[in-house]
Order: sequence, then structure tokens, then C-alpha cells
Amino acid sequence: MPIRPDVLDLLREIVGADGVIADSARMIAYECDGFPIARGRGEAVVFPTCTGQTVSTVKLLAKHGIPIVPRGSGTGLTGGCVAFGDGVILCTSRMKRILEVDLPNRCACVEAGVLNKSLTDHVNRLPGGRRLHFSPDPSSLSASTLGGNAATNAGGIHTLKYGVTVNHILGMEQVTAEGEVITTRGSARTDGLGPDLPGLLCGSEGTLGIITKLWVRLTPKPAALRTAVAVFTDPLDACRTVAQIIEAGLIPAAMEMMDGKMVQVVEQTFGFGFPSDAAALLLIELDGVEAALDEQMDRVVDIACANHAQDVQRSADPQRREELWSVRKRAFGAIGRISPSYCTQDACVPRSKLPGVLENVMRIGAEFGLTITNVFHAGDGNVHPILLFDEHDPQQVANTMRASHAILRYCVSVGGTITGEHGVGVEKLDMMPVMFDADTLEAFEAIRRTFDTEERLNPGKLIPSDKLQIDLTQPLQPNTPGGAL
Ligand SMILES: Cc1cc2nc3c(=O)[nH]c(=O)nc-3n(C[C@H](O)[C@H](O)[C@H](O)COP(=O)(O)OP(=O)(O)OC[C@H]3O[C@@H](n4cnc5c(N)ncnc54)[C@H](O)[C@@H]3O)c2cc1C
Repeated sequence: MPIRPDVLDLLREIVGADGVIADSARMIAYECDGFPIARGRGEAVVFPTCTGQTVSTVKLLAKHGIPIVPRGSGTGLTGGCVAFGDGVILCTSRMKRILEVDLPNRCACVEAGVLNKSLTDHVNRLPGGRRLHFSPDPSSLSASTLGGNAATNAGGIHTLKYGVTVNHILGMEQVTAEGEVITTRGSARTDGLGPDLPGLLCGSEGTLGIITKLWVRLTPKPAALRTAVAVFTDPLDACRTVAQIIEAGLIPAAMEMMDGKMVQVVEQTFGFGFPSDAAALLLIELDGVEAALDEQMDRVVDIACANHAQDVQRSADPQRREELWSVRKRAFGAIGRISPSYCTQDACVPRSKLPGVLENVMRIGAEFGLTITNVFHAGDGNVHPILLFDEHDPQQVANTMRASHAILRYCVSVGGTITGEHGVGVEKLDMMPVMFDADTLEAFEAIRRTFDTEERLNPGKLIPSDKLQIDLTQPLQPNTPGGAL
């Protein structure tokens, strides 16, 4: 049912006239996220500037039984922040104040719409703040919000050693589906002090509450660093190298892999100096105490060479390291050179299974007539097959979804999971019963009902339910329940 004009007027009274978008032309920008297959429009987008406005917005929408879809920057890769059918998008992009930075105690309090990179940039500009950073570094860090990072429990290049977002959250303020404010304060450790609500909220994808504030850890930057780029003529050798480095007891700060196609695209776009005829590259970073690093890097190089690395280039130059990770983080953006659309898949597998997974990903791509390229967090076993397609071709869209699900099923069959860091959203809803049995899904549903009895917060996302039935292999129309493309 379309939102009533008087409700829109009341929303404007809460957040100001410029804080509500309800005309279909301007709402196009909110029609999808980084997963272009699922599209829907909802009824309006509302932009509160603070917790108080969020509370009033939520209470008004609750009174009228209107679903709410929380949204940060919309960089998600699973359609999680997209509104299907009726519902209002509550966007945190105007809640971007850094409320407190406590350097001696290495923590900060921020509003949910603060961008990940903005926090570290801000801290680094403070006297004495240069040596600290917010450690979780998704490749989207210059665009994605800290609220979105928490809601998806985002990982990143340095997750291998430093963990995912939840490991860096000390406390949270959330607004419930009824408009109550729950605060689990945390400028210090609160572990063991009652249930771990921030832990539950991390990865809940907007279904358990709207995160409005976060207390986060600030981590010292490493004292010394080494990077290496190892070149392989066979991607499977690169995969074996990854597994053996970890097996040897080394924990690199990051260990990323690009296959040959991705190396070519990245090199054509950024000209970093990668050998464009490589079949695979490993980008490895070691950090820690200066005196130990060269010896550790010798061991890494030995393992790479034992696995037929053609070349290994080592560097201790901080500038070169910055450039390396900057290029890696922009790799997805370079794909526009070779394909009109792409779908970034995301699964986690035991590292020892990586060679078989990579082989099967390519086999599945060929089976569905799709080109797939890979750039991923290899050290975590977090694969990101990138399926290239044209979203205007319904057959290619259908094949992209079928191939994606075949890949995920294969990953689960070797002991993996259906997501490593991007979450479920709508894109992986069909895969939840592949990963979890009925009792487990029922337990998830019970948790959801505890926070949101009517399932009005991001309805139908994350946990399959009758609130959202969507077949992403079919071309669908915007603004119909379960609508897409
Ligand atoms: C180029 C590119 C690179 C990426 N690299 C990575 C990577 O390395 N690692 C990684 O983990 N992800 C990565 N992502 C995915 C994405 O950036 C992350 O999932 C990110 O955390 C989403 O943040 P956002 O602010 O854009 O959230 P959105 O996309 O707006 O929302 C994502 C989900 O969080 C919910 N949500 C958002 N804000 C709130 C809030 N305040 N309260 C409650 N729920 C909320 C939404 O409802 C939705 O379910 C990448 C995406 C792109 C486009």
C-alpha cells in the first residue's frame, strides 16, 4: 500500500523537508546496492541526523505498520539495504559525527553514518593520533559506513591477522523496531557483563535494530612491515602456497590473491607494474617487530618458490605498500573495463581446499557460459569469484544466479560457508537452508522475533520468511513485492 501523504508530511516534520525523498526519479539512486540484480524502490527514503530523529521516525512508522529498511552507503553486495514493495528506507548518511576520540584509552564513539576511512583520517589528524587506526579495512572503506560495517560484520584485507568488525566494537546504541533506545556502552571492555548484544547486532543485517552509535577500538599501527608480490604460472600453486604458509605457523597481516584475468585488468587500469602475463599473484604482507620480519619473509619466499613461484618481489618501502593495497582495494572498480555488470560472490572455505574450489569455480563458470575472475582474501579462505554478465540480458542474469548458487553449494560441500563477509541479504536467502538445518533456522527466527515481533525491520532479509519471496533468476519489475531488475 503506498505511503499516505500525511505520513510523509509527519516524516518531514521530524527530519526536515530535505530529509525525505519520495519522488520516484530521485529514489532510483536507492533502488539497489552493489548487487545489481535485486532492485526495488520502497515508498520513501528518510535521512535522520541523530538518534532522536531516528527514534521519532521509527515510532511513527511503527504506528502505521510500515516496514523499515536500514541503509548506510549502499555498498553492500547482497541487496540487504534494498526495499522491496512497501517500506521506507532509513538512511544513516547524515548521521556522521565523530563524537569522541579517546587516544589514551584507544577508543572512539561515532555515529553510524561515519565512513570507515573518515574515522582513521580524523584520528590521524589529531596530535598523537598518527599511530592509531580503525583496523577493519573492507575494500569499500572510503565509501561504506561504520554502521553498515557492523551490520554486515565486514572483513577486509587485514582480517587474517586482525579479525572482522565485531572484534573491534566495544559498545553500541541501537533503536529497536518500536523506537526504544538500547545502549550497551563500551569505552572499555564489557565482556561478561550480561549478554553480548553488540556481538548479536554485528552481522544481523538490519534485522534486529538500527545501529545509531558505535564505540570502537583504535588499534596501534604495526611498527614495521614487509610486502611481497609472488608471481605464479598456475593459480593452483598460489593456492597451495597460501595453505602452506599458514600451516608453517606464519600469520601474515594480509594474504590476497588475484587470478590472471584480474591481474591484466588491474594492470591495464592502474599500471602498478604487475607482470600482466601472470596466471596468479599473491600479495603478502608481514608486520610486527622489525628484527623478525626479514627471516619470516625468507620463509614465505621459500614456500612460494617450493610451489614454483616464477618470481617474488619483496619490499620494505611504506609508499610502495600503500600503493599496493590501494590498487588491490580498487580492483573491483577496474572490472567495468571488461564487463557491463558483475556479481561478486563470497564464500569461505578451509584454506587446504582452495585449489579444488578454484578449479570448480572455473568449471561452473564454463558450464553456465560465464566468464569468472577472482580476487580474494586467500589467507582467510574467503573466495570472491566475480561473475561477469550483462544485466540487460535475462538469460545471463539467470545463469549468473544459477552459477552463483552452484559455487556456494560446492563450497558448503567441502566444509565451507555461504558467506565470508558480505552477508546474506536477499542474494543468498535460498542458500540458508543449504547451510543450516530447520531447527537452527528456527532459532535464528526466534532471536529475530525477540527484537522485532512483527518483522518490520528489513523484512524477509537474512532469514528466509514469507515476508519476501524472490526468485532472482527471473526478470522482475521494480516496486512489486519481491521485485527486481
Ligand atoms: C568495491 C567494494 C568492495 C567491497 N569490499 C568489501 C570487503 O573487503 N569486505 C567486506 O566485508 N565487504 C566489502 N564490500 C561490501 C560492503 O562494502 C560491506 O558490506 C559494507 O559493510 C556495507 O556498508 P554500507 O554502509 O554500504 O551498508 P549498506 O550496503 O547500506 O547496508 C548493508 C546492510 O547493513 C544494514 N545496515 C546498514 N546500516 C545499518 C545500521 N546503521 N543499522 C542497522 N543495519 C544497517 C542494511 O540494512 C543492509 O542489510 C565491498 C563492496 C564494494 C562495492
